[in-house]
Formats: sequence, C-alpha cells, structure tokens
Amino acid sequence: MRDGDTLYLDYQASTPIDPNVLVAMERSLRRDFANPHAAEHALGWRAHAEIERAAEVIGDFAGVDGDHVIFTSGATEANWLAIAGFAAGYKADIRRIVISTTEHKSVESAAEASARWYNFEVKKVGVDASGIVDPDRLRATCEEGASLVSIIAVGNEVGAINDIAAIRGALGENVLLHVDASQAPSAVDVGELLASADLVTLSSHKAYGPKGVGALLASPEVIARLAPIMPGGTQQRGLRPGTLPTSLCVGFAAALTRMSECIGERKSVAALRDRFVRELVRLSEGVSMIGPPAERRHPGNACVRFDGVDAQDLLQALQPRIAASSQSACNSGSIEPSSALLAMGMSSTEARECVRFSIGRFSDQEQILEAAQIVANAVLERRKLARRIVV
Ligand code: PMP
Repeated sequence: MRDGDTLYLDYQASTPIDPNVLVAMERSLRRDFANPHAAEHALGWRAHAEIERAAEVIGDFAGVDGDHVIFTSGATEANWLAIAGFAAGYKADIRRIVISTTEHKSVESAAEASARWYNFEVKKVGVDASGIVDPDRLRATCEEGASLVSIIAVGNEVGAINDIAAIRGALGENVLLHVDASQAPSAVDVGELLASADLVTLSSHKAYGPKGVGALLASPEVIARLAPIMPGGTQQRGLRPGTLPTSLCVGFAAALTRMSECIGERKSVAALRDRFVRELVRLSEGVSMIGPPAERRHPGNACVRFDGVDAQDLLQALQPRIAASSQSACNSGSIEPSSALLAMGMSSTEARECVRFSIGRFSDQEQILEAAQIVANAVLERRKLARRIVV
C-alpha cells in the first residue's frame, strides 16, 4: 500500500479498508439509518435484520451461530467485557486469573483492575525467547487453581502464534479460557481457536474492516453468566447496551467474508515478508529478525532489530516515507521499551532497537524492495550520525 509519499508497513496496527467492505458499508450507511433497536416500525426491523445477518456471517467465520456474537467498539472493549464481565458475573467464585506476560495492555489492565475490585489474584505466565507461551509452564502456573486464563492467539509485536489447543489441554475442565484473537484472522483459523476457547475477542480494523467495531464470541451459556461492564439498555441481551452501529457491523462482516476468500494470501504475504527481510540483511549489517520461526509467526510480521540504532529515532528519520512501529500502537509514543520484548528476555537497550514492520493484502514486491532500500539508507545514516556524536 502506497499513500502519497508513504509506504505502509504497519498492518498489525491497522489494516487499510478492503474495497469490498467499503461498498457494503456505503450501501448500509445510505439505507440502514433507522435505529436497529426500534421495535415498532419496518425500517427498524430492516436495520436489525442487517445486524443479525452480520452476526451470522461473523459467527460463520468462526464456526459458531450468530447468537455467539456480542458486538463491541473493538478488541479493547471485548477484552474488558471478557475479563471484567467475567469477574463481575462470577464474583465470589473467582480465585485467580492467569494471563501471559505478552498480553495486550487491555487484557492486563482489565485483569488487574478486576482483581482489585473483586479481591482475587492475577498471575502471569512467562513466554520463551521467541514470545510463545509454553503449555507446560502454563499448567504449572495454574496448579494452585485458576478461574479464568487469558492468552493472546497471535502476538501483536513479534507475531508469535500460540498453540491454543495445547493450552486448552493444559488447563483443568472448570477453567474458562479467553483468547485475544485480534491479530488472528490474517494468520490462523479462528474456528480452531473457538474449538478450544470459551471466549474469543475479534477486532474489525485488524481484518480490513472499519475501526470502532469488534466482537466477543462465546456460547449463549457463557454469555449468560457474564455481567455488563457498563449497564444501560436491553440491547445485546443487556450485556453490552447501546445502539449498535449498523454500518460498522455490516462492514465488519463483509471484511470477514473477504478474509475467507483471501486465505491464500497468507502464503504470498509471508513470501513478501521474507523477501523484505532478506533485502534488509543484504543491504545493511547488524540486522536480525526477532521472534519465532516462520511456522509459528504471523505471515506479515517482521520484527527486526538494528544493532546500535534507536528504533524511535529511526522511525522518525523515516518520515514520511515509511509507516512502521516500534511497539503496539496502544503504547506507541511511550518512551519505555516494549514490555512484550522485555518479557522475551531482551535487555531494554536491545528492545529499543527493534522495529515492527507488518505487511499485508495490498503490499507488493516493488513496495517492499523500495522500503528495504529506504530503511537501509536511514540505518546507515543513523549509524554515521551516532559515530560522529561519539567522536
Ligand atoms: N489486542 C491486540 C492483540 C491488539 O493488537 C490490539 C490493537 N493494537 C487490541 C487488542 C486493541 O484493539 P482495538 O483497537 O480494536 O481496541
């Protein structure tokens, strides 16, 4: 994707909207203006039917019925609903919540806030040097008992793919498993995740859909036991009140329909990613890939360390030519190094030298070769500058 002077390599922060999604949304924006919860007229019913259809499509994408879908404003809210909604719903029965050290900030803060409110403990399970959760280590962490475990399906920094089926196998029968699958649709089969997990978080704007919508997926039985984190009206079984944004729900569903049609792109995106990294290595010294091997990695993720180069300075020097990140957009602008990289055992100096490039549906060979050249030139410049400052 090229936008004016900028080459876009930040798909894991947000994907550009797919043209098919735009078509579906434009139709819906024009047509579905009525309140989808207006129960007394035909236009309300029509808008409501669009939302029901969107829920069916999203459920279908994940191998479940539409009544498993609770729409939210995105993954942050879905993670909160899963964890704080669980804590508020189960209260007295909760002993401990276990999360990994590479969870998104929203999972970590929902777990920590709920633990303070309802007086239970949060335990964290570490990851290996490639960012993956070891099921045996998780089993040991849960030995003293856990009520809910929340594990990211596909990491947002190094793209590490966790084995959710093995993680399920490591947990006792009564433990509920929540999986943040925000980064999953372009990397793994979400249906397989739902076969192992009780609660699954999705985000539309990580899957070529619009921003401002996501979903929590769970069975009606699990949904019935959660409590709303924001009480209000009766929409969505009272669990997540508020008027639903019809066109965003329609766009989200269209994005997942398109995703099912584009499964083959995982291979081509991974090939482009590998070419990009090979080119960076060819053009500059001291360049290394951080994170898991290709078979356990998001196909578009290239988390790259440039020895001796500060990632934030490099990204600034690359403006406006290259859009990439030094860490998750939700912590972006922070001067602290990425906690996910520190959790993998990197020193803070090493972690500060890592840039996450992420490639996707609208990337092509010309763009990534040009991007590699621009990055390599900037790396050379930064190193020359650093030498001059030291002298
Ligand atoms: N979880 C993960 C793994 C993410 O990558 C993100 C987005 N950075 C979120 C949650 C939050 O998603 P949203 O922007 O939809 O709230």
